[in-house]
Order: sequence, then C-alpha cells, then structure tokens
Amino acid sequence: MGQIVTLDRNMINMIAAGEVIERPASVVKELMENSIDADATRIIVSAEDGGRRLISVTDDGCGMDAEDLARAFDSHATSKIKTTSDLRGISTLGFRGEALASIASVAQVKAVSRMKGSHGANFIEIDCGDKAGAGPCSADYGTTIQVRDIFYKLPARRKFLKTANTELGHITEHFTRIALARGDLDMTLMHNGKELYRLLARQSLRERIAELFSSEIAESLMETETNGKGTDIFALLGTPGISRTSTKFQYVFLNGRFIRDKFVSHAIKEAYRGSLEPDRFPVVFVFIQMPYEDYDVNVHPTKIEVRFFNANLVHSEILAALREKLLATNLETRVKLPSEAHATAEAKLSAQGYKSQNIADAMAEFFKKHRPIQTQQQLDFRKAAGPKTSVRITGRKTHGPQYHIKPQVQREFIQIHDSFIVAEADDGFIIIDQHALHERILYEELQKRIKVSKLESQKLLIPESFELTEGQADALQANAALIEKLGIELEPFGPRTMAVHAFPTLLANAAPLDFVRDLVDLLIDKGTTLDAEQLFDEVLNMAACKAAIKAGQRLSDSEIQQLLADKEKTECSSRCPHGRPTAIKFSTAELEKQFKRT
Ligand code: ADP
Ligand code: MG
Repeated sequence: MGQIVTLDRNMINMIAAGEVIERPASVVKELMENSIDADATRIIVSAEDGGRRLISVTDDGCGMDAEDLARAFDSHATSKIKTTSDLRGISTLGFRGEALASIASVAQVKAVSRMKGSHGANFIEIDCGDKAGAGPCSADYGTTIQVRDIFYKLPARRKFLKTANTELGHITEHFTRIALARGDLDMTLMHNGKELYRLLARQSLRERIAELFSSEIAESLMETETNGKGTDIFALLGTPGISRTSTKFQYVFLNGRFIRDKFVSHAIKEAYRGSLEPDRFPVVFVFIQMPYEDYDVNVHPTKIEVRFFNANLVHSEILAALREKLLATNLETRVKLPSEAHATAEAKLSAQGYKSQNIADAMAEFFKKHRPIQTQQQLDFRKAAGPKTSVRITGRKTHGPQYHIKPQVQREFIQIHDSFIVAEADDGFIIIDQHALHERILYEELQKRIKVSKLESQKLLIPESFELTEGQADALQANAALIEKLGIELEPFGPRTMAVHAFPTLLANAAPLDFVRDLVDLLIDKGTTLDAEQLFDEVLNMAACKAAIKAGQRLSDSEIQQLLADKEKTECSSRCPHGRPTAIKFSTAELEKQFKRT
C-alpha cells in the first residue's frame, strides 16, 4: 500500500497559512495591503485583545461583487496577475492570491463588501476553511473583513501567541510601516474600542512621524532627495543624537512597500560611518522609487524581501545620497538639559518603548560625578586656569554652521581635568573632548595627505628594533605598499628582527615601536576580512588615535589655540573617527531657560 496521499485543499491552506500568517499582526498587514490595492483612501483597523479575539479592517476601496467575494477566499485566487509575464513588474502589494484563503483557514472570518456604484452589499462567512453562510446585506461602499479567534482550532499555534500587549506591538509596527509608506491615506488604529492613532491624509510625513514615534525624532530629521537614472531616493535622516541600539528604527520603502534588504542596510551603515559609534544605529526613513521591472518581489512569502536586479547600483545610489547629506551637515551635539515638562514627556516615551537617549542624561551624570572637589569653596575658574582665561585666538572662519570662534575676538577658554576644554562660542559655550577632537583632526589630515602622496617621514636617530614571528613577518611583507605609504621605513636587522628607520612626522606623538607592533597586530587581525580601502581606513584610524593628544594631558595655551583653530578647518569635526562626539554645545538660550531667565 502506498504511503503518499495528496493533501486536501483545507490542509494545503493551513500549511500555506503557516508561511504568511504567523500572528495577528500578519493578518492586519495582509488586510491593509488588500485595502491599498483596492485603492482605498481611508482604512480603519480595529483589534481586540491584541488581535487574538478580533481583527477588523474596513476600507472605502473598490469593493467586490458577490461572485468575487466568494472567490476571493479560494486559494491562489487573485485579481492582480493573470499571466507569467505579469510577474515581471508587480505594482500591487499583493499578487500571490493566498492571504485571504490562508486567513480563512485558521479563523472565523466574515467579509462584507459593496462595489462602487452598486445598490447593495454582500457578505460571506467562513469558519476555518468551511463556508458558514453568504448573502446580500446592507453596508457602505468598500470592504470590511473581520477575523475572530485566530488559530482557535490550532491550539499548538495559539499557544505561541504572546501577551495582548506584545501582539498589539506587532500590529502597531505593521500599521506604522504602512502609515509611513502611504501618507496619502486616512488611517485609524483602535484597540479594545480605544483610538490609538488617527492619522489624516493631509498631514505631512514629519507630522506623521511625530505622532507615530515622537516629536523629538521628527524634529531631528534631515531631509534629502536625489533623482538618479530611474531611481529616485527621498530620505529623512536622524542625527546621531537620536541613534538606537538596533536597526529597528530603519524604515526602508520600495515603491510604497516596506522592505528589509541587506544592501540597503549596508549602505545606510556605511553612510553613517564615522558619524556614529559602531554599535549604534541611525534612525532613518528611506523611500526608494524605481521601475517595477528592476526588482523581483516574488522571493519571500511575506514579500518583505526583494531581489534587486542591480543591487550594487542601488547600494551606491543610496550611499551617495545619504553620505552627501551627512557630510554637508554639521552634526554637532547640542545639549538640552532636562526640564520638568521634558522629564514627564520622557517617562511617557519610555513607557511606550521609545526610550529616548538624550545626551542630557549623560551630562547630568557627568556633572554628578565631577562635582567640584572642594564643596564649600567656590571653584575659581580664573585661578585654576591661570593665564589661560584671557587669550586672543586667531581662528579662521569656515562656511557652514560650525562652532564659530570669532577671529580676532577676545575668547575665553579653560582646560578642565586636563581632558576637556571649555570654550566660549558665539551663542553659548562648548565642551571639547581634547582627545576625540584631535583624533578627528589628525585623521582628516592623514586622509588628505595620503591622497596626494606618501606621508612625509623623519629618520630616527637610532633605529629601533623588534622581534617578530613568521606570521608577523608575512603580514608586513604582504602590506609593504601600505607601510611605505605611511612613511614607515623598516629594514631587516638580523634573524627574526626588524628595525624602524623612519617614522611619519605627523605621528610624532606616537612611539614608533609601539605603533608598528600594533600595526602588525591590526594587519593580521583584519588583513584578510577587510578590503584594501577599509584596511587602510582602519590603519589611519589607529594612527590618529595613537598620535592624538591624550586625556589627562595638560595643554599649553598655544596648543589649545591650535586645536580650536584646527577644529574650524576640519571636516566632520563634531565627531571623532569612531563616531563619538568631539564637542557638546550649551546654547545661551538653553542656559537662560535653565536659569529661568526666559
Ligand atoms: P492577493 O492580494 O495576493 O491578490 P488575497 O488573498 O489577499 O490575494 O486577495 C484575493 C483577492 O480578493 C484580491 O486579488 C482582490 O481582488 C480581492 N480583495 C481582497 N481584499 C479586498 C478589498 N479589501 N477590497 C477589494 N477587493 C479585495
Ligand atoms: Mg492580498
């Protein structure tokens, strides 16, 4: 007797449902996508008990007649494609004809629909794949689909559902994605009879973002737009100050479809390289428009992944668009000290799960730790700083909204804890991390010089020798060109021994031997995983770090002046090469507010 049987239709749908319908939020997504494909202008989503008891989606779209309404729940039933050629260039969100059949196979479903211009509406009821009733009824134009008690006949799957709050979180996420993609729609989300979001079509995208996330995020976004060959990119880029610990706040849309794509994510990461610490992720909203023929959506059941036919081009276009904007913007860190009102808003935000990472917390913490040691005594900045307090600074003005240390103007500065420089600025003051800033200045200078030729070096009076292993010797051998470009001269000095004969002048602050040893380690560590350009960048990063002024190093007036002047001339001076801020600004306005002067 043969063991193999063909599964019946209902079983097939249930299995298919496993792919598309993972949880209530998947139902919300599929139903909203159907409403959009039906040209709705208004969508109301309503859920009860995190969508476990009920999910209902109502739209004012084109509707279905009785015949289509019955057919819509058949598997592989769709009005969106007819022939294989339609698969190339899909412009609708759906096309697989599986969603309604899948949903109806795992829940109690009631659909009511009325076509534009028709006199009456029709309904159909399906209970876990079995038709339970159908007929005419009265209703408005459009479609309402209600899904009750999802997975109630599948205890194993129902058990996997999380708390109502968690499920609602997933529903909200899908709602948010669609709300961002389609700012032209009126959209409402209700839960247990309470309105959570009511978004109006006439809202701007920024207003929508403020409602869906927070006004802090909405206000900090920078806008950029580019029109390439066939590809248009519009993006809202978050400043480093609102970065996150995950990529959750990266919303990428391709022709109105939310997607996750590794090429796009990589381009975003690259664009922010040097503006953010490696373990932080920017908040970004990227909207890509390109011909439907240039990618394939038929690669994943939930259509969240796509295949770009020219992924490298997409990568480079996004990278260029974002990078250009970020480089042209002064990403200075501005401090907003917590006020009472602010603190409550903050608490509300974190309760919603959007924990704000305001620099103010960090500053408050900093000042708590670094309270003046003599608590009774007033800290006399003038005395502590000695003659540094009144110095003429000749900084050069640059274009762009940098911190302007006005040329030929009496400016005050002090060095505190031999690590930070507090300097007066036009509209307030800045606190500079001397190491981070010098690191950025050196890094930019190294980049600039190395583009033109190899680094200028100086012969060491006495060559410094060091021992090395076979592997280390190989690594040096393999990177001979890089080492030469750096202006380091190495020569064999007996068996398993090398000597440093010359060292770059720009890195004079670093100890040659120490530097070369670390360089060898870096080459071995990263030499095989990074491409030549990335490796070189890492080396320059390390060089800048090693040669930069250290924290704890007392600086002379002229050194501080030099640092402040270099800051004005240096690109990206607001961040160190690792993406940490180099300076934090306190504006006069903020100080006045804090001292209740305004
Ligand atoms: P797909 O969206 O992939 O075509 P679905 O199972 O989601 O498959 O829907 C099947 C069909 O039902 C759609 O092609 C569409 O013709 C119709 N339909 C579904 N939802 C709606 C709606 N809200 N308004 C009008 N027609 C709809
Ligand atoms: Mg669909």
